[in-house]
Amino acid sequence: MNPEIEWPSWPTLYTPSLSSTPPLLTLNTQAGRKSVEPGTSFTMYVCGITPYDATHLGHAATYLTFDLINRYQCASGSKVSFVENITDIDEPLLERAARDDVDWQSLAASQVDLFRSDMTALHILPPAHYVPATGVMGLIDDAITQMDRNGFVYRVESDLYFDIESFIPQLPISLDDALSIFAERGGDPARPGKRHPLDPVLWWANKNDEPGWESSHGYGRPGWHIECSVIALRYLIGQDFLTGNDQEFSIDLQGGGSDLIFPHHFMSGAQAQALLGRPFARHYVHAGMVGLDGEKMSKSRGNLVFVSKIISAGVDPMIIRFALLQDHYQSDRMWSDESLHKASEAVSIIRSALSREFVSPTEGLISEIITSLSQNLDTPAALAKLRIWAERVDDVPTQQGAGELSRTLDALLGLAL
Ligand code: ZN
Repeated sequence: MNPEIEWPSWPTLYTPSLSSTPPLLTLNTQAGRKSVEPGTSFTMYVCGITPYDATHLGHAATYLTFDLINRYQCASGSKVSFVENITDIDEPLLERAARDDVDWQSLAASQVDLFRSDMTALHILPPAHYVPATGVMGLIDDAITQMDRNGFVYRVESDLYFDIESFIPQLPISLDDALSIFAERGGDPARPGKRHPLDPVLWWANKNDEPGWESSHGYGRPGWHIECSVIALRYLIGQDFLTGNDQEFSIDLQGGGSDLIFPHHFMSGAQAQALLGRPFARHYVHAGMVGLDGEKMSKSRGNLVFVSKIISAGVDPMIIRFALLQDHYQSDRMWSDESLHKASEAVSIIRSALSREFVSPTEGLISEIITSLSQNLDTPAALAKLRIWAERVDDVPTQQGAGELSRTLDALLGLAL
């Protein structure tokens, strides 16, 4: 039996709670706009990185989005349980390690170190459990056995596949689009012996010298999607999720970049449903993609912009955070030097206003910022109102200090200004 392993997360930060926050409305990618009820507890699973090129701005924008949800729920008095994974065994990681002639585990460890320091610098609250795929091999083994009992597993040669057929009506996109995306992103729709072209691999039998683990399904390694189903259920529902306790419990939110809507979130949700017999998550939230100077930012174009490089060039991480908040989380946006320039100018005006001994009243502004965030995390509106206040800070300087406003910015936007 492979023991469970977690990796250290990064340092946490104090988040002040606020007295009055309306329920958060975010766009549920599956069901249209819907409230994320505050409740007394909130369970959130966010798909983590495959650690071979951390942390580019697309990663940062995604984790910032879920940090805003985390902060809003915390400030509303919810006890947030936040879990994130690390895809530390997958094709792209092995390919990069082979290309650079480095050990795949050392590559993963070094990139996760970089990711932690970038997340710390950007004031992203850490997950309570930061779990690598290689840390849950025993659970993946058990989950596949359970899915097999439930009738969802079949074998093609020595590899195991998940039978997706009964979930096809839940596809978030058309079947034609799904087939072409599946093929583009490393799927194998045409493999002889598959029942449905979209069936994903659950367990790869060992090939050549690839890393592998002993399991009841043979020596090998898991497919991508099953790790997230298992880690989310284990760390958000509980150790006995496979025994069927807590029958009513789905997780509150599954999140990631919009490139995960299909296939990853569809597949991991279907696999969790095949295990539990009920929906996996009540809300799906997805962050838009970040491009560079008019082009899509991607590994293949070689135009990824890394957070660590911007920081090492001397940019204050709060300015990077502010720059990313200038656009709405759902929009596909373009990054340019101008984004940083605009953010730097705004931060300087706001910092100067916050440091005044007497300022214009902040109560109305605080309420407007909270309202903007509650409405699908409208950060551009919140920052625009903040800037207007900062520019007019001397209009009616009747209030001593802006401490309450600073605490709100810190609690909800993670901006320590
Ligand atoms: Zn995932």
